[in-house]
Amino acid sequence: MHAPSSQVQPVPVLIVGGGLVGLSTALFLAHQGVRSWVIEKHAGTSLHPRARGFHARTVELLRSTCAREEVERAGSVPAGTVVGELVAVTLAGPVHSWKTRTVSTQRTDVSPCPYVFLGQDRLEPILLEAARSQGVEVRFRHELTGFTQDAQGVQATVLDREAGTVSTVHAAYLIGADGVRSPVREALGIALRGRGSFGHNISTLFDADLSPVQREVPLAFAVLTHPELGGVIAATDVKDRWIHATRIDVSREKAEDFTEARWTERLRTVTGIADLEPSLHGTFVWEAAERVAERFGSGRVFLAGDAAHQMPPTGGFGANTGIHDAANLAWKLAAVLNGHAGPALLETYDAERRPVAAATANQAALLALRMAKQALPADAEFVDEDAVTLGYRYGDGPPLPKTFVPTGEPGTRAPHVWLEGRRSILDLFGNGFVLLTGNEAWSDAGRRLAERMPLRVHEVQGWQHAYGVGEGGACLVRPDGMVAARWSEPVRDAEQVLDAELETLLCRAGLGSVRTPPTEPVR
Ligand SMILES: Cc1cc2nc3c(=O)[nH]c(=O)nc-3n(C[C@H](O)[C@H](O)[C@H](O)COP(=O)(O)OP(=O)(O)OC[C@H]3O[C@@H](n4cnc5c(N)ncnc54)[C@H](O)[C@@H]3O)c2cc1C
Repeated sequence: MHAPSSQVQPVPVLIVGGGLVGLSTALFLAHQGVRSWVIEKHAGTSLHPRARGFHARTVELLRSTCAREEVERAGSVPAGTVVGELVAVTLAGPVHSWKTRTVSTQRTDVSPCPYVFLGQDRLEPILLEAARSQGVEVRFRHELTGFTQDAQGVQATVLDREAGTVSTVHAAYLIGADGVRSPVREALGIALRGRGSFGHNISTLFDADLSPVQREVPLAFAVLTHPELGGVIAATDVKDRWIHATRIDVSREKAEDFTEARWTERLRTVTGIADLEPSLHGTFVWEAAERVAERFGSGRVFLAGDAAHQMPPTGGFGANTGIHDAANLAWKLAAVLNGHAGPALLETYDAERRPVAAATANQAALLALRMAKQALPADAEFVDEDAVTLGYRYGDGPPLPKTFVPTGEPGTRAPHVWLEGRRSILDLFGNGFVLLTGNEAWSDAGRRLAERMPLRVHEVQGWQHAYGVGEGGACLVRPDGMVAARWSEPVRDAEQVLDAELETLLCRAGLGSVRTPPTEPVR
């Protein structure tokens, strides 16, 4: 029996799920001045390093928040690090193949940020602390048990699992960042599309000294072809901590069947170290699958991360894609809540993110099929990793290019350019729209408009070529660092041109012609 329901103070945004995507959404919202609550049914952050690496684009987005230094410091890999990938019966052999590669951590011509090798179990606490430092209310052991919505807002029923009490939270918007099973998606009745299941796996995280089977460089990943005990072993970002995963037939076995004794025996066999004494940190069952929600929301409720798209871990795209959803959704919610944009702006979240997520899930699925040496569909087309993580585009045309070439075209990521003092142009973005220009007429027009619109003007040089505009041109960049519009030369009536552009971008039609100056952030 639960205690009677109580009411709590209204909140602009209620986020269901305190995983990577819920926490980063809260952080991006806080950066835009919007208060949110995160409720998470579990007692703390993730115990397993499911995602182990974050691409440069993800780090760029987090760089705009206060988690920036922590993320880069925690996950940076020394330049020139060489690791090995093994295919063998066991770690001790016989060996089918052993390949070494230099970890490509950073391409400073493309991004100011490195790829970070950082487990999800270590990134989540960083995001949690950063979010709390920005005033985000994160409540663990709190579970969403139901919600209703109307034109005014969302009423969510939240169970405090510790106290056993139920409260009603009123929010203007609700975000379901509640993982693959997503009760929020279920409640909205949103169906999933895609290839479906690729099968279930069981993983254990363990500490062990594998130096007896160490080769000339550290092992990053091993595919083990042992006839009975095949699977993979992957390194984590913690010394001597490893993941071992293998297939499980969930119709015949469950996690509890994998006892400590069974794991120890198995690990001794697959490592080839007969006296291995692994220290086990738990087990979890997961499904490799490709499923994308038919819609990324309904009314005042939105889906983000695994709730919206599930993909096999091949390629390491899942969490990264979810964090990119968060960046897209957060600035739009902030613009609407702050009165700068019309509610129709929120419809562009689905229109922009769903095609990109579906194309990314397709790439992950193709990689999974190739890794399993299964037949590929006749129309299978692989694109470069950078094309997926940095090259995606919103708007017309295919969401993923074949290869990544920064162009500055509207709908694509604003290219990185080093400015004076080794500062990246990307550091100018993240809050409100930014007008880049080196031209006085554009600057003057932008500054006049900035008095009544969420716009900042940066008069800088040296970026025009990378953005495909002339010296007298200008470029309008969104808060999520995507190019909104560009002009190759000065134009007559620049203020009016910019005004009309923002009017359209922010879906302001119907908001009325009388503008108020930017309001105080919603707190
Ligand atoms: C083995 C494996 C390896 C992976 N490797 C990578 C990788 O290398 N790179 C990568 O980018 N991705 C990887 N992924 C994918 C990545 O782990 C997920 O994409 C990521 O965890 C999604 O984050 P999320 O916040 O959307 O969902 P989750 O992490 O699942 O978080 C959702 C949260 O919502 C909570 N919740 C659910 N219902 C409720 C409710 N009713 N009330 C309150 N809280 C609720 C849950 O408890 C959970 O904590 C991997 C996944 C697996 C399984």
